[in-house]
Amino acid sequence: MRIAVLVKYVPDAAGDRHFTPIFTTERDAVQGLLCELDEYAIEQALQLVETAGEGQVTVLTMGPDNAAPALSRALSMGADDAVHIVDDCLAGSDALATSLVLAAALARIDADLILTGMASTDAGLSVIPAMVAERLSLPLLSFASALRVEGKYVTIRRDDDEATETITTTLPAVVSVTDRTGEARYPSFKGILAAKKKHIERLSLAGLGIDPAQVGLLGAMTVMSSVSRTPSRAAGVKVLDEGSGGIQAAAYLAANGFI
Ligand SMILES: Cc1cc2nc3c(=O)[nH]c(=O)nc-3n(C[C@H](O)[C@H](O)[C@H](O)COP(=O)(O)OP(=O)(O)OC[C@H]3O[C@@H](n4cnc5c(N)ncnc54)[C@H](O)[C@@H]3O)c2cc1C
Repeated sequence: MRIAVLVKYVPDAAGDRHFTPIFTTERDAVQGLLCELDEYAIEQALQLVETAGEGQVTVLTMGPDNAAPALSRALSMGADDAVHIVDDCLAGSDALATSLVLAAALARIDADLILTGMASTDAGLSVIPAMVAERLSLPLLSFASALRVEGKYVTIRRDDDEATETITTTLPAVVSVTDRTGEARYPSFKGILAAKKKHIERLSLAGLGIDPAQVGLLGAMTVMSSVSRTPSRAAGVKVLDEGSGGIQAAAYLAANGFI
C-alpha cells in the first residue's frame, strides 16, 4: 500500500506572527515547523503500514526552501521518502493554486491513500483536502477521528457534537484526519539519524507541467483586502456578594435588557 501524506510548513503559532504589506503571511520573521495537525496524519499513515506489514509512506509539501525541516521531521518520525515542491513563482498562492500544484504532484505518486491534516494552523481554511480530491476525481472522507483500511476499502469514524458517523469508500481516496486519531509519535534518535539518508525529491512547476501564471499572487482568484487584529475581550462585570449580590446581579441583567 502506498500512502501519500500532505504536510505543511507553518509559522510557529507560539511566535509573534505578522502579515506582509500585501497581507501574505510573513514567513521569514518567525520560526516555522511542521504543522502539528499534520503529525496526526503521518502517525495514521505509519500505523496503517505497520499493521499491514508492508507499504510506503511518502510525505509531500509545497513550500519555500526553508520548509525542508517539515519534511525532515516527518522522515524522522518514520516516513520513507519525501517530495518538496519549490518554486519562486508559488509565493502568495491561494488555496485553488495550492490544490492544483499538490494534485499534480500526487498524480505522479499514484498513491492508494492520501492523508491530510484537518486544517493548517496558519490559514486554517480546511479546504485543501476537498480541492485535491475534486481535482483528482477521488472520494473524500473528511475529519476522521479514526480510520482503518480493509482490502480495497477505507472506513472512517467521524465524531461531531450531534452524531458519530461511520463512512466507507473505495481506495484510492483522500482522508483528512483530526487530532482525535491519537497522539503522534516523537521522532527517536535512531529515526533522526535514519532520516538524513532518506530521499527528498525536489519538484518545480516546470517539472509538474504547470504554467506559472496559474499560481502565486498573480494567479490568485482571491485577494486579501484587509487584516485586523481581533479585539481582546473586555473584562466582565464582577459582583461581590456581601449580602446584596442577588440584587446587584438582577440590576445588571435588567440594565442590559436580559430580563
Ligand atoms: C490569514 C490567511 C487567510 C487566507 N485566506 C485565504 C482565502 O480566503 N482564500 C484562499 O484561497 N487562500 C487564502 N489564504 C492562502 C492560503 O494560506 C493558502 O492558499 C493555503 O495553501 C491554503 O491552505 P490552508 O493553509 O488553509 O490549508 P487547509 O485547507 O487548512 O489545510 C488542510 C491540509 O491540507 C494540507 N496542506 C495545506 N497546504 C499545504 C501545502 N502547502 N503543502 C502540503 N500540504 C498542504 C495539510 O495536510 C493540511 O493539514 C490565506 C492565507 C492566510 C495567511
